[in-house]
Amino acid sequence: MSEKLETLSNRWNNLRKILERPGPFSHPDFEPSLEIINFLMNTCKILVIGAGGLGCELLKDLALMGFRDIHVIDMDTIEISNLNRQFLFRHKDIGFPKAEVAAKFVNSRVKGCQVTAYFKKIQDFDANFYRQFHIIVCGLDSIVARRWINGMLISMLNYNDDVLDQSSIIPLIDGGTEGFKGNARVILPGMTACVECTLDLYPPQVTYPLCTIANTPRLPEHCIEYVKVVQWPKENPWGTALDGDDPHHINWVHEKSLERAQQFNITGVTYRLVQGVVKNIIPAVASTNAVIAAICATEVFKLATSCYVPLNNFLVFNDVDGIYTYTYESEKKENCLACSQIPQTVVIKDPEEAKLKDLIQILQEDSRYQMRSPGLITTIDGKNRTLYISSIKSIEERTRENLNKTLSELGLKEGCEVAVSDITSPNTVIIRLHFQTTDVEMKKLIN
Ligand SMILES: [Zn+2]
Repeated sequence: MSEKLETLSNRWNNLRKILERPGPFSHPDFEPSLEIINFLMNTCKILVIGAGGLGCELLKDLALMGFRDIHVIDMDTIEISNLNRQFLFRHKDIGFPKAEVAAKFVNSRVKGCQVTAYFKKIQDFDANFYRQFHIIVCGLDSIVARRWINGMLISMLNYNDDVLDQSSIIPLIDGGTEGFKGNARVILPGMTACVECTLDLYPPQVTYPLCTIANTPRLPEHCIEYVKVVQWPKENPWGTALDGDDPHHINWVHEKSLERAQQFNITGVTYRLVQGVVKNIIPAVASTNAVIAAICATEVFKLATSCYVPLNNFLVFNDVDGIYTYTYESEKKENCLACSQIPQTVVIKDPEEAKLKDLIQILQEDSRYQMRSPGLITTIDGKNRTLYISSIKSIEERTRENLNKTLSELGLKEGCEVAVSDITSPNTVIIRLHFQTTDVEMKKLIN
């Protein structure tokens, strides 16, 4: 059957009902036409990032919605623990790349659909690669990866005299789940709130202060964490690192955690919780993934066809107890690290006191930045100067001594700019240092 005829076959009748006639919920500007389904099936190019819990659902949903040119990136291989929900994978697939197995499965199951797989990291591709897609949809469990692709799409925007060139926008649809909770959002880079605009929604990963877990544990997690970070290294029962997938290891940690919990009258240490704390995971729930992926795929469909008004722009979903969803418009942050084009001012109390490592700590711990291992370069007296970079061993060794120097010792002056690079973004961020002592001096001068 020729392509044209196939588009008209009964198989896609459900799509044609939506795209070839208006409905009460259609977009006000929607013009039904035969051409839309043709675009969807033969032209529209979609990138799915992640072929895990959400990714499998997304690929299935998109393929069954008629999208045929789908690309998928995933850097992971299949593990046995994936099989309960990542339904494109079978036992025989364990050890093989998720992207490739998922693509093969969908291609063989949905006639005419062509999924192209990339067993790679998103960082392995540049703007030229990402520019070829009409829409990008993410099913990731990593905040770093989300931030990186967000930064990439923002860096691809074109501005003519400060006016955003709309044709340079690639919509990003982002789904995320955590246990029985999930969210889905639509990001039009440069126009609506981006991942960094709402960075404070992702609190830094929970870590427990060592003094609490050692001296004043209050939660079952504190007891488990104590066994994990203190008792295991000390007693090292198997002579190896703690392996969260080894039931003997988990049993050992479970027993010791129970003993410790008893000492402090704490209840709630269970095998499952031990597993969760040791592996630092929240169990994935198949139904949550299915709902969030379906919402994301629907948004892809809406944007690709313009038939309905897209989600505006952040939906939260929760089925811990019954089902609850709520949608609100998250707002663009005026001085967003990624999308505002406004230099970031980092306030430092006193450059005579503050050391370079304190500045780095601000960049890592402040909820606005949440960087992982920032590298810092500046210009002093017209010369480029590397302050600190941890990712390249030789440079790290050479610049390590700077960490304990104060900002004054390093020659950093009020208002100076520092270029910061980090794995959370493909782009360098410029920060401007502002020393509060200058305010004090100014006040003294005025008074
Ligand atoms: Zn932003």
